[in-house]
Amino acid sequence: MLTQSHRYRDIERAAVYLQPEKCVPPPVRDSMDKVWFIKDGCGIACAVVTWLLVFYAEFVVIFIMLLPSKDVIYSIVNGIVFNILAFMALASHFRAMITDPGAVPKGNATKEFIESLQLKPGQVVYKCPKCCSIKPDRAHHCSVCKRCIRKMDHHCPWVNNCVGENNQKFFVLFTMYIALISLHALIMVALHFLYCFEEDWTKCSSFSPPTTVILLILLCFEGLLFLIFTAVMFGTQVHSICTDETGIERLKKENPTWEKTSSWAGLKQAFGGDFSPGWFSPFSHSLYHQLPSDMEYAMAPDSNEYVTGRIVGHVEVIEVEHENE
Ligand SMILES: [Zn+2]
Ligand SMILES: [Zn+2]
Repeated sequence: MLTQSHRYRDIERAAVYLQPEKCVPPPVRDSMDKVWFIKDGCGIACAVVTWLLVFYAEFVVIFIMLLPSKDVIYSIVNGIVFNILAFMALASHFRAMITDPGAVPKGNATKEFIESLQLKPGQVVYKCPKCCSIKPDRAHHCSVCKRCIRKMDHHCPWVNNCVGENNQKFFVLFTMYIALISLHALIMVALHFLYCFEEDWTKCSSFSPPTTVILLILLCFEGLLFLIFTAVMFGTQVHSICTDETGIERLKKENPTWEKTSSWAGLKQAFGGDFSPGWFSPFSHSLYHQLPSDMEYAMAPDSNEYVTGRIVGHVEVIEVEHENE
C-alpha cells in the first residue's frame, strides 16, 4: 500500500517487484573510476571558455594596466590581490568540476541489493529507470551526467558538472571569487581610464591607444557581465543553503517533506563544520559530505531513507514482497 508521501512522487508505474534482469550490478571500482569527469562536449567547451576569459582578464590587468603604471606599490598590491583571487577562482572551478556531486551508486537497484536492505514487507523503494539506482530522498536524475545526484541543485555547463550535495561549496566559492575578480578588474579599469585621461595616452600603456581602449572596453564588458551573473548565482546558492531547498525543489515549488535545517546548520553542512578560514578554501573539503559507500547502504537496513522520501521525477515504485507471497 502506498503511503501519503507517495502522492508527491511522479510515479511512472508501480512494479510488483523489481525486474533485476534490467539492472546491471554496479561495476567494481578501480582507482581510475575515482576521477569524476563528465564527458560532455558542450560542458567541456564552456569550462575551457571560462578559463580563457580569466586568462584574458589576467593579460589585460597585468600587461595593459599594472606593468605600465608608474606607481610600483599600486601595481604590486593590486597584482598580488588580483592573482590570488584569480587562482582561487580557477582552483574552485577545477574542484567543482572534478568532484563527484553526490552520485547515487549506479545500477544498485538489483534484487540482491534490495533484499540486503531487509526492508519490511510492504515497504517501497524508488528506482530510477534511467540509471537503475535506488533513489534516496531529494535525489534527481541528471540527463547530462546520466546519474542520480543527491540534493541536485542544477547542472552547470560552466563547471561541466552537476551542483549537488558534495560539490556545492566549490561552486559557491567559484561564483564568489569570479564576482570578486570582476569587481576588482572593473575598479582598476575605471582608475586606469582616469589615469590615461590625465596623462598622455601614449604613456599609459605599452600598446597603441586604440588597442588599449578596445582591450579595456572588452574587459569592462566581461567584468560587468560576470559580476552580475556570478553575484546573482552566489546569492541564489547561499539562499538555497540557508533555506535548505535546492534549485530544483524551489522551481517545482515542492512541499518540503524533509526536516529543514537552520540557516547556520545548513551553511556548516555545506562548507564543512564550524566557521573557519577553510570555508573560503577550495582545498579543504568537508567530512560531512563523504558519500555513503555501497556497504553503508547495505548496513543500514533500519533506515527508512528509501521509503519515506519525496522524489519528483521519473521513478518506479518497487514494493517489497510480502513474506507469505
Ligand atoms: Zn537516475
Ligand atoms: Zn549533471
